[in-house]
Amino acid sequence: MKLTIQQQVKLLHLHGHFGSIPYGDVVGLEDNHKLTLDAVERFQKENGLERDRVYGPVTESLLSRPTCGVNEQARGQLCQWPKNCNNSEDYTTITISFDPRGVRGISEDKAVELAEKAAKAWSDVSGIHLKFVESGAQLVGSMGSIGRGVLGLAQLPCGIRCGDSLWWKLQITTQWNEETFLEVGTHEIGHSEGHDHHNGKSIMTTHALGDYLKPTAYDIAQAVKRYGKDGLAPTPEPPVDPDPPATDDLEVVYAKLFEYNSDDEVVRKRSFFVDDIWTPPTL
Ligand SMILES: [Zn+2]
Repeated sequence: MKLTIQQQVKLLHLHGHFGSIPYGDVVGLEDNHKLTLDAVERFQKENGLERDRVYGPVTESLLSRPTCGVNEQARGQLCQWPKNCNNSEDYTTITISFDPRGVRGISEDKAVELAEKAAKAWSDVSGIHLKFVESGAQLVGSMGSIGRGVLGLAQLPCGIRCGDSLWWKLQITTQWNEETFLEVGTHEIGHSEGHDHHNGKSIMTTHALGDYLKPTAYDIAQAVKRYGKDGLAPTPEPPVDPDPPATDDLEVVYAKLFEYNSDDEVVRKRSFFVDDIWTPPTL
């Protein structure tokens, strides 16, 4: 993947290599701008690379490492919250909270506002409703120190039971801007609903590059698959109808002729039938 200069600058900024310079001040920097070259050199130094101030393939591959810390937990299984937790047939409400203390780059109030917007983006598209509460939430969100180069982390509800709670976190050392906070927040809350990574047209890609700021058509389909459209559990797909037996199916013809039931009878009577009716021609 060849990153544009804007994507390079964005990743360098996310990883803190522009220091405390606000995101708006580094947007649109030229390829050879001193600030960008300084950021590249700082990144190269911290990662033990040759400090040539050139954004080459090695620098790019290191900088583009997954920016979400979630491993592929679901591995193809349908990870989801159980239904019936509130004595009802629907998924109804999962409570969620977010403690913005420690957030950098944006205000705490803005961080809470964006976390609520991220949760609403999921609530709007499927039958699970994420409701913000002050304390005792089932999904507990906060800022935290979560490993180098990682922007966010969350637990998936694989095998979760009613009464259990999960956490989701955003990196405390990151200089956030509103767009990326919303993107990564929506992504991590997506994990909390049960969504795995999907490196296609999805908010659930492992990189934060600003391609999508809300659930895409793919993500919505995944959410509906888990929680239905309207809060009711998705109706299981009816079993595939086996092909109706052809009228000249030998088994059916035999059954009609002899009206037998058990397998033993089938074998015995078929044997009898064949032996009785058809005899090899004598040569
Ligand atoms: Zn992720």
